[in-house]
Order: sequence, then C-alpha cells, then structure tokens
Amino acid sequence: MKLGGLQQCSLIDYPGHICAVVFTIGCNFHCPYCHNPELVNETAEEIDVEEFFSFLKKRVGLLDGVTVTGGEPTVHTDLLQFIGRIKELGFKVKLDSNGTNPDMLKEAVAANLIDYIAMDIKSPLARYSETVARPTDVASIKASIDWLRSGTVPYEFRTTVIKSFLSTDDFHIIGQEIAGAKNYYLQKFIPTKLLNPSFLKKTTYSDDEFVTIAEIMKQYVETCQIR
Ligand code: SF4
Repeated sequence: MKLGGLQQCSLIDYPGHICAVVFTIGCNFHCPYCHNPELVNETAEEIDVEEFFSFLKKRVGLLDGVTVTGGEPTVHTDLLQFIGRIKELGFKVKLDSNGTNPDMLKEAVAANLIDYIAMDIKSPLARYSETVARPTDVASIKASIDWLRSGTVPYEFRTTVIKSFLSTDDFHIIGQEIAGAKNYYLQKFIPTKLLNPSFLKKTTYSDDEFVTIAEIMKQYVETCQIR
C-alpha cells in the first residue's frame, strides 16, 4: 500500500459514523476536477503504513470506522490485506472507489472486509473516457453499478457536478444507467486545488438548478440528496 494522507477524524465521510479517512496514492483516472492532484500525480509524501496502524490502535473504541479513499484504492493489489488489518482492530470500513475493479469489490465484500461502498458516477457511460481523461473500460463500470444495485452491501452512488460538463439531458442518461439505485448524491463542484488548474474557471449549478437536477434523478433512484 502507498498511503498519502490521513484525516484523523471525520463526521461527514461515512454516513452515520465517526471515522478516520486514509488516502491512498495512485489512480487510474485523471479527472481534471480532481481535488487530490498529489495523490493522482503520486507526488504526495508517503505515510508509513505501520505509523498509520499505530495511530489506529489508539483510536479503538473512539472511532466507528475508517474510510479508505484515494486516489483509487483498488489499484493496489494488497488493498484487501490492508483492509483486513483495519477490520482486525474492529473498525467498520467504507471504501470509496471509481468502480473500475468490480472483481476486487466483490472479493472484499465476500470476505466481509467492507461495510459500505461509495462509487463515483462520473458521467453517462458513453462519455467516461472523455470525462476522466483516460481510456475507460465502461463494461467494468457497468458491472460495478449492476453489482452494487443488487444490494449485497450498503452503498451510494455520487456525482461531482460541473455545469459545462453535465447537462440536464446527461442526468436523464445517468438516471437510466443507475435506475433503481438506493442512494444517490449530487456533489457540488468546488474549484479549489485541482488536477487541471484550467478547471478553476468552471462553475457548478445554482442551488435552484441543483433542486431541478435532484428532481430529475428522483425519477430514477430511491433517494437523491445534494451535498
Ligand atoms: S477524482 Fe478522478 S482522478 Fe481524482 S482520485 Fe477520484 S477517480 Fe482519481
């Protein structure tokens, strides 16, 4: 594992739980609006894995869980061993993923290593490669969507919304592609530190427009909330 960041306590990353957030280095996507360029470019200062576990041992009984995020955690072949060590300490684990490795997600859940998965939905499937600036096997993305919708593990889908990137028509397509999903979140794009600085000029929708988009998505999913 290559760890590039640790947030010692978060009240907002794991629904209903107080958690630590650990950030892994490396990603197979290159989303221009990514807020963690140092993780994607692999320039983040590495945190010693044993130091992370020393910290975690001191939080037993104080935190409910750990959110493992990135970067993209599933690019690490030893991710499940890493999560297994977290579980051995008694923590719940939430995994954030871009959904490119459905087999690893399934294996982790089958082994009772993951309690909650948050998967990004970047755009309509047909536009993925353009959106994430990397050639994308959308069959894997679709397989992750379909498997999560089967309800094997608690999950959410979420989309970061950039106005010039995603139109209301796109949300109808996304809605059809994740139809029947339990929980879907619209996340406001906040132009701060970005992988592609030219995106600092991009904007998100207004609050009223977000409400309109949420109404569109509610035609397709069980719950849609705005973050
Ligand atoms: S936002 Fe995109 S580039 Fe950044 S970590 Fe997530 S999947 Fe990777």
